[in-house]
Amino acid sequence: MAVKEGDGGLRRLGRKLGRNWLPILIVSMLAIVAVVELNTPYMPVALWLCAVIAILAVRDGPAVASAKDGGNPAPETEEPEVPGENVISGVRAGLAVLDTPVFILDRNASVLFQNGAAERAFGQLPAGAHISARLRSPGLLDVIRETITTGQPNQVEHSERFPSERVFIVRIARADVGEGAAPPFYILSFRDVSELRRIDRMRSDFVANASHELRTPLASLRGFIETMQGPARNDPKAQERFLAIMLDQATRMSRLVDDLMSLSRLELRANIAPDQKVDLVPVIGHVRDTLLPLADELDVTITLHLPDRPAEVQGDRDELVQVFQNLVENACKYGQEGKVVDVWLRAEPGKPVEVSVIDKGPGIPAEHVPRLTERFYRVSVADSRSKKGTGLGLAIVKHILTRHRARLIIKSELGSGTDFTVRF
Ligand code: ADP
Repeated sequence: MAVKEGDGGLRRLGRKLGRNWLPILIVSMLAIVAVVELNTPYMPVALWLCAVIAILAVRDGPAVASAKDGGNPAPETEEPEVPGENVISGVRAGLAVLDTPVFILDRNASVLFQNGAAERAFGQLPAGAHISARLRSPGLLDVIRETITTGQPNQVEHSERFPSERVFIVRIARADVGEGAAPPFYILSFRDVSELRRIDRMRSDFVANASHELRTPLASLRGFIETMQGPARNDPKAQERFLAIMLDQATRMSRLVDDLMSLSRLELRANIAPDQKVDLVPVIGHVRDTLLPLADELDVTITLHLPDRPAEVQGDRDELVQVFQNLVENACKYGQEGKVVDVWLRAEPGKPVEVSVIDKGPGIPAEHVPRLTERFYRVSVADSRSKKGTGLGLAIVKHILTRHRARLIIKSELGSGTDFTVRF
């Protein structure tokens, strides 16, 4: 990319001679033998001179070229004064094919080369530009400076905000050229750890959320136990009321623990696709039967629309029961005021099998829809708790469907209701 112009013609000639010392030595020895044999210096010296000029002209090294030439060195017209340019051109060809961003810097921290990944990540830097023209973080510039001064490798974390938020571990190391007195160059490489950081954050959020969800009923249980040991010690009526609430809280905790365990079991099997054939017609029938008591309690009618032939998909029966149980239960709970829940099973030849669970409830505001399958995400925490929700139901649904290579499509209209469709 960047080619520094050399100034001393003599120094360049000296380096060329140094690089081609072996053929020049052989030609010189032949010339000496010829002088001795022919007894005249003119002819051998003239031939020796021609041979040396030819060697220097033919065995010239390549220039440092841009990343865009795909690593094919351009023919050199004027030899650039860059550290170990022969070596750099070899290194560059290797770096060009890497998909991690890499820069080669000289000892002034000017860019000699950037690979395609670096161009994509940071844009193309002008030839010979100082690295700070694009990367201005003082911490990063400090470690570059330090490595150039001490020769010791260094690494530092570097964040980019635009065009998107990314975190890199940046490493700078000196590469010794090993070509006589040629100065070293420095390799600046970037490892993108944004995804790892995001997963770490999700994990710690999850642990914090799970602990918080468990802590609330636990604190309430403790409070009631203390009250029953103290002020309500001799109040059987109050004790009875408290015991009912305590049972409720303990049930909530065990629901949460069950859901957490379901999620962790599913995570363990996330990459193993299920291999049974499951007919969804009896599965949907079973789900309706299980939820009839809840539907009656909420005064909701569950209507099934099933095909008159089997609707087979590849899957795990118990997990599919769990998916449709969650969806129909949510439709009954959150769409209660619509009074009806329709379940459509479509299995038309040549089309994917689909199950739609449709309620006529209040619907879900559009901004919440994309996040519904996140763990502990609820449109209204109070509403979910009052309906015995844990905030994990749709996360479990999504996990199961991912394992089944199926999709969950959510459509909702405020005031009209919600449609959760599973497409296999
Ligand atoms: P929860 O245990 O709270 O029911 P889910 O993961 O099953 O957790 O659902 C997440 C949230 O999605 C619910 O708290 C609720 O706000 C919303 N939701 C799910 N299904 C429906 C529906 N059919 N209608 C309206 N809102 C729904």
